[in-house]
Amino acid sequence: MSAVDADRSEFGTGGLSVLFRAMAYATELHRGQTRKGPRKRPYIEHPVEVAEMLWELAGVRDLLVITAAILHDTVEDTHASLADLGTRFGPELSNLVAELSDDKRLERAERKRLQIETAPHKSPRARLIKLADKIVNVRDVGLDPPQSWSLSRRSEYLSWSERVVAGLRGTNRALEERFDAVLVETRGILEREEESG
Ligand code: ZN
Repeated sequence: MSAVDADRSEFGTGGLSVLFRAMAYATELHRGQTRKGPRKRPYIEHPVEVAEMLWELAGVRDLLVITAAILHDTVEDTHASLADLGTRFGPELSNLVAELSDDKRLERAERKRLQIETAPHKSPRARLIKLADKIVNVRDVGLDPPQSWSLSRRSEYLSWSERVVAGLRGTNRALEERFDAVLVETRGILEREEESG
């Protein structure tokens, strides 16, 4: 079976085998990595949370989206390449992860600027995953922020996320409303932290 055939037949709504394979692969790739917050949660919790949010809150039943959510940070944050993903999971999956991966050769500020600029031009599947990713990240900036981040850096992250999400609107109402709620909640957390010094 060619990679393309595998892609088509295995990403049907009934097929969970690719998803389980992706979970095993992502867990291995992110092994030893932790989220940057003081809770030091295993990194793999993050993509699992993104996938869960897509399934539970957004009602996404497209397994290509759920599987790409599990793998969405592997190219950016591990040694895996898009070609590796293409070989294992087919071109549709690797193309989707490509849409979700910043070009690490660029400066951080430029990568951030590009996220804002390119968000409106992403495919519908990539937009769903980006929305869920931003919700989880914004929530973490409130509840389990990277230890080295100052209040102003956290606050800048929120404003930047808001601008990225502005370019993703019209994709999924439940996710967009959740983003708005989490943003308000997180700004409240930051304000209270600022007050308490
Ligand atoms: Zn992510």
